[in-house]
Amino acid sequence: MPTIDCCSQPGLMPIESAREKLLEALSPISGTETLPLAQAAGRVLAEDVISTVNLPPCDNSAMDGYALRFEDLASGLPLELIGKSFAGAPFDGVVNPGTCVRIMTGAAVPAGADTVVMQENVDAQGESIRINCEVRAGDHVRRCGEDVAEGASLLKAGERISVPHIALLAAAGVGTVTVVRKPVIALFSTGDELRQPGEALGKGDIYDSNRIALLSALEQLDLDVLDLGILPDNKQAITDALQRASEEADAIITSGGVSVGEADYTREVLEELGEIGFWKVAMKPGKPFAFGFLQGTPFFGLPGNPVSALVTFYQLAVPALSVMKGDQWTGPQTLQAKLLKPLKKKPGRTDFQRGVYRSDENGVLVVEPVGTQGSHILSGLAAANCFIVLARESGSVEAGEQVVIEPLRVPLG
Ligand code: AMP
Ligand code: MG
Repeated sequence: MPTIDCCSQPGLMPIESAREKLLEALSPISGTETLPLAQAAGRVLAEDVISTVNLPPCDNSAMDGYALRFEDLASGLPLELIGKSFAGAPFDGVVNPGTCVRIMTGAAVPAGADTVVMQENVDAQGESIRINCEVRAGDHVRRCGEDVAEGASLLKAGERISVPHIALLAAAGVGTVTVVRKPVIALFSTGDELRQPGEALGKGDIYDSNRIALLSALEQLDLDVLDLGILPDNKQAITDALQRASEEADAIITSGGVSVGEADYTREVLEELGEIGFWKVAMKPGKPFAFGFLQGTPFFGLPGNPVSALVTFYQLAVPALSVMKGDQWTGPQTLQAKLLKPLKKKPGRTDFQRGVYRSDENGVLVVEPVGTQGSHILSGLAAANCFIVLARESGSVEAGEQVVIEPLRVPLG
């Protein structure tokens, strides 16, 4: 018997409540893996990283010029040039009073020296130099440890590793990092009518667009996919696939077969095998959505209609998956835009109209709906760059009104 249920209640579940229930029911997956730094961008750190070095590792020059002792400048006497310090080939000796060393950007500041003067501000004659500008003590010296001190924190567990983070870790000599393992998502489509793109279509057949779109979206979300293909409307085949998926994956996503048609076996099998609720979410497109657990593995049953499948994926599955990945889901990223065409709507469901937004000639964000809005109209979704989100209780909206839009980014969510 399903224990997570809402359909038995009259009315539809508001999308906000559906999201809340999903987020409450899920937690980050356990398990870590250690990766070379070059493969770690986008992953979530599993442990704090402490710097074992100072950054910079030693005092070094920020300029091409001359390293010297600041106190020597008071006399105004020329300084004797006693050597050179290059990046990677430091000067081994000591800068004693009255002497200086030619130094290049990034080269270690030699012992005894404390200040660098840019070469443009020096008159060099043979082995002797004179300074022709104001100098302050410590000029153009990058101090040892001024960026990061040895023992200081570089990154904390739970942070998603960005490209600048990679630069910081690499600069500190970190070769490998321990990150949260990638969740594996089992994915299949159900339907006797479905064919793989590239195959011939028989009468009444259609191509399986959901699985390939979802597979691409999951990969862009940096999740691993266990692709179980297209399943026929056959109870045994669906039972076997769900069993395998619950054993091998961290979550299961299917499309189709969760409404109340005669061939909707996914629903039947789930009711027998798992703790699944069939939610009627107050959203358009989308309404039927199944969520629950199959032997402890979270299950998301998306509707079969292609636009509904992607809209419910973005609106409900993505927040849930981001929690499983160890991310904080901070809510949909929305903007306000001026609606250019009126939109018809009845109160009762949150509407995710497909729209195109842009900045007009005055820099004002404007938006208009694209094409017809049916849940099978993929061309409209493909042409859109945002959802126009009309609140559940909102009625029709007039041109000129401000509306909430949710830009379709990759990955969305
Ligand atoms: P269902 O939820 O299985 O009743 O499917 C609802 C509608 O979505 C039907 O018109 C199906 O043919 C269509 N559909 C189901 N699965 C897919 C899929 N993977 N790709 C494209 N359309 C689908
Ligand atoms: Mg079907």
